[in-house]
Amino acid sequence: MSHESPLIAILVIGLCLAFILGTIANRLKISLLVGYLLAGVAVGPFTPGFVADQGLALQLAEIGVILLMFGVGLHFSVSDLIAVRAVAIPGALIQIALSTAMGMGVAWLLGLPLGAELVFGLALSVASTVVLLRTLQERRIMDTERGHIAVGWLVIQDLVTVLALVLLPVMAPLLSHNAPTTLSLSGLSFTVAVTLGKVVAFVALMLVIGRRVIPAVLHYVAHTGSRELFRLSVLAVALGVAFVASELFGVSFAVGAFVAGMVLSESKLSQRAAEETLPLRDAFAVLFFISVGMLFDPTVLIRDPVPLLETLAVVVLGTPAVAFLTLCLLRQTSGTALTIAAGLAQIGEFSFILAALGIGLGLLDERGRDLLLGASILSILLNPLLFLVAGRLKTWADRRNEVPSAAKHAAPPPPVEHPVTKLQGHAVLVGYGRVGSLLAEGLLRNGWKLLVMEAGDAAVQPLRDRGVEVRTGNAADPEMLKSAHLAMARLLLVAIPDAFEAGQIVEQARAANPDIEIIARAHFDTAVEHLRQHGATTVVMGEREIARAMLEHAADGGSAEPQANAVVQGAS
Ligand code: AMP
Repeated sequence: MSHESPLIAILVIGLCLAFILGTIANRLKISLLVGYLLAGVAVGPFTPGFVADQGLALQLAEIGVILLMFGVGLHFSVSDLIAVRAVAIPGALIQIALSTAMGMGVAWLLGLPLGAELVFGLALSVASTVVLLRTLQERRIMDTERGHIAVGWLVIQDLVTVLALVLLPVMAPLLSHNAPTTLSLSGLSFTVAVTLGKVVAFVALMLVIGRRVIPAVLHYVAHTGSRELFRLSVLAVALGVAFVASELFGVSFAVGAFVAGMVLSESKLSQRAAEETLPLRDAFAVLFFISVGMLFDPTVLIRDPVPLLETLAVVVLGTPAVAFLTLCLLRQTSGTALTIAAGLAQIGEFSFILAALGIGLGLLDERGRDLLLGASILSILLNPLLFLVAGRLKTWADRRNEVPSAAKHAAPPPPVEHPVTKLQGHAVLVGYGRVGSLLAEGLLRNGWKLLVMEAGDAAVQPLRDRGVEVRTGNAADPEMLKSAHLAMARLLLVAIPDAFEAGQIVEQARAANPDIEIIARAHFDTAVEHLRQHGATTVVMGEREIARAMLEHAADGGSAEPQANAVVQGAS
């Protein structure tokens, strides 16, 4: 089958294996990525049995990158990007320069020639978009300032890679040992100018024309009332713009898709557009990890252990250290610096593309490529661990900041990110969206002392201005949840739609306080059961309450005002 229908083979066998190994990883309480990567190794050419088509796997992975970046763009306005430029541009450029230098140092130790050193160094300096975005999404920090800086950083890394990809072929004759020609500086500047000119032309075209045409098309399709057509139009925009960006303007697929998402982000339809691409995006992101696993030759672990460790050290120690220090210099909090540093401590698709080009140009040899691939898979595997270490370091730094010392009088301590609340007998509200914002008003009106936990930054500012305590981030994160001091709280309201995350929050809360009243939100009967089993006192099933309110309304002959607080009253 694999010879006749390689696409079906990789989709079916790859996804099924990823599912099985992902489930086992979940059972063992390790990152799902481990399962996906191992599935890739299993269908790769270096292990016995079925061998999937590597080229196809990489192309499918590229679709994952497009959908991910499109989704990020949908949550990102042009002003968000401008707001983080003062940190993201200098930060990313310094980090790329220093990481490349460190990578070149390792390549020099390996005795590689100058051209190989440069390719090797550059490949080590750029993080994987997929890995970083997935991490930001998983931790629900995409909509926070840290998340915005990280995305801005990614965009700069992306543009630098695009530049490197066009410049390397021009510079290759100079860099290879048997350089027959000398490179003219004017030729090089011309290539740089043309490349940057194309990027600017693409962005300008999108901002001027795309910004009007794309939302108009989607609005038109939305009005046809066909969900299927709407879904298709979103896909067509995401993939189409990314393709045109890459084919006509030489911009990467990722940046093209990101800009397409961004021009749509101001439209009211952006939320719906994001939802429509979610399932596809997740499936293709899994294919990305399978494609990385496939490239990995496990024998490199035995053949070249010391160089592999050196290469890995640049990625998991060197780059994060440089990023951390740069961010501290740019006056970011230690929490922000640690998160971004940990996020950048991995390499992926850009490194493979650079390595492939290096080999094509005769600059890099297979050994260099194998080391890059080995470092990539190991760094992706180690990434969740690095986030754990970053979390611990942050707690430690926070504690140090809490201890008053004479030496600290001069400079105010940087703000602690999730300080433990001093409230007692309070209510904790998780989620400040359509449901949570109504709950918050009710609780405040009833005189509750309130602490709100919300993943996004933007909506909670008015609450903060009113003096309500707010923590931003994923409430399922134990560090974040600790800051609510649930042991002293009387009430927990979990007003988020995702039952899996809500279950994690409820379970931790119940362990912290066996007596606390926990009211949770659900949308399915199975979720009601799930949340009760994890310790919720009451679970309110949204759809049932909507039905109840509609019936009440119908009984009143449709004249009564709908009850805004019916959801709260209807605790089952
Ligand atoms: P809505 O469905 O409009 O009530 O919105 C739900 C809100 O919950 C959104 O504002 C989300 O950002 C927020 N939210 C979802 N999951 C989490 C989480 N794990 N931690 C904190 N806030 C969350």
